Amino acid sequence: MSRFSFTVNATDGRARTGVIDTPRGQIRTPAFMPVGTAATVKAMLPESVRATGADILLGNTYHLMLRPGAERIARLGGLHRFMNWDRPILTDSGGFQVMSLADLRKLTEDGVTFASHVDGSRHFLSPETSMEIQRLLGSDIVMAFDECPALPATEDRQAEAMRLSMRWAQRSRDAFGDRPGHALFGIMQGGVIRHLREESAQALRGIGFDGYAIGGLAVGEGQEAMFGVLDYAPELLPTDKPRYLMGVGKPDDIVGAVQRGVDMMDCVLPSRSGRTGQAWTRRGQVNIKNARHADDPRPLDESCTCPACRGYSRAYLHHVFRAQEMISGMLLTWHNLHYYQTLMQGLRDAIAAGTLDTFVTGFHAERQQGDIPPLG
Ligand SMILES: [Zn+2]
Repeated sequence: MSRFSFTVNATDGRARTGVIDTPRGQIRTPAFMPVGTAATVKAMLPESVRATGADILLGNTYHLMLRPGAERIARLGGLHRFMNWDRPILTDSGGFQVMSLADLRKLTEDGVTFASHVDGSRHFLSPETSMEIQRLLGSDIVMAFDECPALPATEDRQAEAMRLSMRWAQRSRDAFGDRPGHALFGIMQGGVIRHLREESAQALRGIGFDGYAIGGLAVGEGQEAMFGVLDYAPELLPTDKPRYLMGVGKPDDIVGAVQRGVDMMDCVLPSRSGRTGQAWTRRGQVNIKNARHADDPRPLDESCTCPACRGYSRAYLHHVFRAQEMISGMLLTWHNLHYYQTLMQGLRDAIAAGTLDTFVTGFHAERQQGDIPPLG
């Protein structure tokens, strides 16, 4: 029972499908992880998130350490019990969010001192404190503490940040220790500079992790530059461990990443879009705010089996968004997460069948059509 392992069951080109086994259940890969920042996937009950097909959620160390606090969550039985999700949870290290959200940061070799964006209180995060917080949360997949420099940055600055992250990766590994059933992932950095990525991958392989993330992408470099890195980066990492692309992405980013050998991804996009009136469908993005939907009795996507599409018209979804009713965010988030998980299942099935190219061609062809035409 106390195991964490990864099995690749089939490959198609560079894409892989398989299973991560954890004591809290299996994670089918390629996997999309919905983001439950503050111990909730906003507007969704955990059982509803599971019903969309999610095997694992992501929680944010930075947010949870500030509110309600990792010690409090530990006293209340850990994050799984606290948020009523008994399946696997991955927590990020806090590093990225300290750099993007916190105030008054001071970065040293030891770690980062910062002021909370919630109440201004001062905190310190380091490889050792991040490992301790993620242990208190009870996370199944723990991320090494790293530094992701704000872009644009010079090559020297990116090299310096990557090398600091590799020293922190070793400290994370040492502090994590031996925890059967729990996994520690290292994070490759180096921006879009190939030799830095290679140096980073070599350092991480030397330390040895249960899985490897590709960090520092999806931070505004654009899809072409991201795919440029993904054309070589996954293969710098061990083939027998999961590869996790952090913070990605839009549906076509996900498809392109899976084609290039990525096994896991996370993004706030499907849930965040659901609260701003944006729906993702086979035929691209639908803006439910648009007046064209006001009299439209058709569902968002007639082939979708989610509750929003089975029970409600575009006209209704348009109305509740305009009226700022809570059900608007609930229905659109459910639909979006359902769409993402359906896409992942399609990718897994296609890789297993050796038909990924056909699947990807069909995926792009359907999106090319755009949304269904308005009713006459
Ligand atoms: Zn739907």
